Amino acid sequence: MAECFAHIYSFNTQSQKMFESIGFVPQDEERYIYKLQKGEPTMTKLTLEEKQELIRMALAARERAYTPYSDFMVGAALRAEDGRIFTGCNVENAAFTPTSCAERTALFKAVSEGVTRFTDIAVVGSRRGEVNKQITSPCGVCRQALFEFGGPELNVIMAKTPDDFIERSMDELLPFGFGPSNVAGNKAVEE
Ligand SMILES: [Zn+2]
Repeated sequence: MAECFAHIYSFNTQSQKMFESIGFVPQDEERYIYKLQKGEPTMTKLTLEEKQELIRMALAARERAYTPYSDFMVGAALRAEDGRIFTGCNVENAAFTPTSCAERTALFKAVSEGVTRFTDIAVVGSRRGEVNKQITSPCGVCRQALFEFGGPELNVIMAKTPDDFIERSMDELLPFGFGPSNVAGNKAVEE
């Protein structure tokens, strides 16, 4: 693949985070020049039909939720950059703290299969036997877990049905998120 560079003429934190989230890395101290590290840059470009299919997969995963204590059933469908989709449900536990959310179930399934880059996740949730009447958004723990791999550009689709949903970027759900670049000493959130 030919080398791909991007020049940021109007530098700001948002543009830096955006470029890094799609695979670019800074080339100089000032970080005005970015080089694509691997693969093609990807942004959320799902069609409406693809989003609806992702929601349907989350709804199907929700049916397998193990929720004897809360009866609040959640399903998630996480879409990798390569188009593969990993689903998850919440899995409760009598001891409560070992409980896992649907989003992290899907995420850990994917990462354990060697998939670490994602573009979209659909999330649905409602009490057993009830039709989704409200949006269910990822909890704080899941936002952090997803930020690690999806970055600020991860598109989060929160749905009642395939025809009724809202979308937000992870940057909106977890502003100034703490991620791998921070640990590496990057100044991504200092400005
Ligand atoms: Zn969660």
